[in-house]
Amino acid sequence: MQITSEVYALDSTRGNYAYLVMGEETFLIDTGRPGQGNGILNDLETIGIKPDKIQHILITHHDVDHVGSLAFMQSETKAKTWASAGDIPYIYQDIKRPGIKRLISFIMRVEKPDKINTYPDGKLGIDEVEVISTPGHTPGHVCLLYKDILFAGDLFKTSRGEITPMNSIMNWDDEVLRSSLELIQGYEFSWVCPAHGEPLKVDGELDLENLMK
Ligand SMILES: [Zn+2]
Repeated sequence: MQITSEVYALDSTRGNYAYLVMGEETFLIDTGRPGQGNGILNDLETIGIKPDKIQHILITHHDVDHVGSLAFMQSETKAKTWASAGDIPYIYQDIKRPGIKRLISFIMRVEKPDKINTYPDGKLGIDEVEVISTPGHTPGHVCLLYKDILFAGDLFKTSRGEITPMNSIMNWDDEVLRSSLELIQGYEFSWVCPAHGEPLKVDGELDLENLMK
């Protein structure tokens, strides 16, 4: 599904969207669950882009529905991968994921990915991407701002045209998450592209107060 002239939500990952951005540089945001790699390749073919044209893979956080097909996509694209310092140890499986996520990891096995580079603070140096540190759902969760589009990862989700909270049981720290929601309200964008739920056009300032209760 095309969102803007440069941005696509990859249909095969609907439910836990990965996105494709074709700007000055071409990059993927997240990689879906384990086993979704071939679906992503099909989506790329439909859009008309060869896998080896993907230059970067940007990861929002360590959850299995975001890094599940990372190893597969790395080998198909040879793209350079980026994630936050806070979440990289979980992606490499050097640190066990806490709580219910440990069980999910046990059920949903993720192949260990190849090299991951650590996000710098602020501008990434890839097109106009800005990395915004938004911990809470995971310790190193980030949102990615590209022009007027916010790739929100799992900071929140959308449901029936509204921004709604992630289930608290899936969050690493609700208190930390609240500060991240507050932080993101200070940014301006006209599209919100979440992983869970559909992309949403937002007009004016984002009001996330009801998510902070
Ligand atoms: Zn998720």
